[in-house]
Amino acid sequence: MPDTPNYKILLVEDEEAIREMLVFTLQRGGYEVIEAADAREAAEKLAEKPDLMLLDWMLPGISGVEFTQRLRRDSATRDLPIIMLTARGEEENKLKGFDAGADDYVTKPFSTQELLARIKAVLRRSHSLHANEVIEINGMELDTAGHRLRIEGRPLDLGPTEFRLLSFFMGHSERVFSRDQLLDQVWGDNVYIEDRTVDVHIRRLRKALAPFGYDRHIQTVRGAGYRFSRHI
Ligand code: CA
Repeated sequence: MPDTPNYKILLVEDEEAIREMLVFTLQRGGYEVIEAADAREAAEKLAEKPDLMLLDWMLPGISGVEFTQRLRRDSATRDLPIIMLTARGEEENKLKGFDAGADDYVTKPFSTQELLARIKAVLRRSHSLHANEVIEINGMELDTAGHRLRIEGRPLDLGPTEFRLLSFFMGHSERVFSRDQLLDQVWGDNVYIEDRTVDVHIRRLRKALAPFGYDRHIQTVRGAGYRFSRHI
């Protein structure tokens, strides 16, 4: 039974046969589907306010990665959840996709079940972040409204900045954020803080998580910034 009504997915895929199959799958999963054959068409259809974008990596004209980068630079689409579709053999490109700002990726050929599970997980994470709910990743349970963190059931105290940093990371896992972006998102626009402050709080957060081995979720991406990865 579809349990996710009203969510709109923008599907960007140039191969018609695959697109039709995906439309069928997504509709069966209870989603409303907006179709686009390339990035240009997808850009126009963003006006229909999709809740998530399913984006093919290999597109004619503007590639999926380039399109993702553009969307992330625009404040209107910065938070749009994006799942990238890649073909097998392009898997080494998944990090490029994450670095560009994709929230997750699915490798073709994939099962219906896998695709729907990934979509549901990404929607839940992005929704939790805005609706003050509980985000759960690998046994870490973060209650954004109650400002509480539990690891494997045990409560863990974090400073307010570390808590906000972790909430932001858990709501945007797999994406790389520069120090500037983290300052903007976690500290807010009108604060003057040095980039180095981010490193200090990252260090504190890692130290708090280290006894549980969860500090490995927070990864340093050389020359780019930091990422929270679910895959450790
Ligand atoms: Ca394609």
